[in-house]
Amino acid sequence: MSSVKWFKEPDNSSYGPVIRIDREIFSIDTGIQKLTVLENAELGRVLLLDDVVMLTEKDEFTYHEMIVHPALLAHPNPVNVLVIGGGDGGCLREIIKHKEVLNAVLCEIDPAVVEYSKKFLPFTACGFDSSRVKVHIGDGIQYVRDNPGAFDIIIVDSTDPIGIAEGLFQSPFYHGCLGALKPGGIFVQQAESPFFDFDKWLAVFTELSPAFSIVLAYGAAVPMYLSGYWTFVFASNSRDPWADFSIARASALPDLRYYSAKLQQSSFHLPVFAEQALKKITKRSKR
Ligand code: SAM
Repeated sequence: MSSVKWFKEPDNSSYGPVIRIDREIFSIDTGIQKLTVLENAELGRVLLLDDVVMLTEKDEFTYHEMIVHPALLAHPNPVNVLVIGGGDGGCLREIIKHKEVLNAVLCEIDPAVVEYSKKFLPFTACGFDSSRVKVHIGDGIQYVRDNPGAFDIIIVDSTDPIGIAEGLFQSPFYHGCLGALKPGGIFVQQAESPFFDFDKWLAVFTELSPAFSIVLAYGAAVPMYLSGYWTFVFASNSRDPWADFSIARASALPDLRYYSAKLQQSSFHLPVFAEQALKKITKRSKR
């Protein structure tokens, strides 16, 4: 009888990645969700929340570079940036590469994610080290209501649209974000994959469209997420990904392993089936 233990996400899909558990480093019920850190020879450290893969040491850079850089480089002066969720620190690590950012706030509902990411995931938690970073523990839905007109960029790096994160994918929150953005601000959110749960994927754009006049999707390869192809939504009332894009700023960003200036445009071209569905609901076709 093999003593090898395997992890698979317990949701009802009949398909998904499995991870050989070479070591279970830590697991705790935080009172909000179950937090687990595994180790795998190929993937390095793996963070799970409620038994869903949040990140792996091997491929988290793809997701964190792509959720951050297209928006910050489409804004001429992204001084004030808000991350909702993102308790592992990976978004912050990428945000502080931009010298224009003077104030990066992370609003995370579960303090344990920050605490244990600092302990077990130094490769993303290094994002907390900057003096330009402030951590607020609370619900992102309330936080945007309490901070009108405060941010140039809002990035929602949350768990999937269930439970504590469900409201982060609904219209009232999107209108709250619109209120928390300064004029010319940009909203970005991880928007799941069109290859699985297509209706859930499309619903993000449907819910978002009434709040913003420009709603665009872009994609990236995130090997450990279901299907390996993940999307993000870019929304604004005035900016598009190339509005103020500066090749010079993009080229000055240090330590990039996925993002490049070429992706600032090419990543906004999606598979045809996804583009056709989006054309019907977003008020402005993509680039
Ligand atoms: N990159 C991952 C993904 O795409 O699934 C997300 C990583 S990050 C760890 C997700 C974080 O969102 C979690 O730490 C969770 O506690 C936080 N979160 C979920 N709902 C939230 C809310 N309403 N307000 C603030 N943080 C929230």
